[in-house]
Amino acid sequence: MHSPRFHLDHRFTRGRLSAFHDGELGPVERRRVEHHIADCPDCGRAARSLQRVIGGLALLRRRNRSRLAAGVIERLRTQTRRDGDGSRH
Ligand SMILES: [Zn+2]
Repeated sequence: MHSPRFHLDHRFTRGRLSAFHDGELGPVERRRVEHHIADCPDCGRAARSLQRVIGGLALLRRRNRSRLAAGVIERLRTQTRRDGDGSRH
């Protein structure tokens, strides 16, 4: 049987998983969530699947950003080439 403390932590964790993953919890709250996730298979599973979703989103954002960066760099290169094309007096 789980202690009443466990059930309190369970509710606490369930309400804060996404804040936990977003790094929005204070150190005390985060420790409480981490501790509970380690003890509770349910919350552990929920935390991992949330982690996957958030990790996937972050990866997507990172890809988009690098594509954007590549476009900017390409534009700068074109610009630089054009400026260098014998227009010097
Ligand atoms: Zn739990």
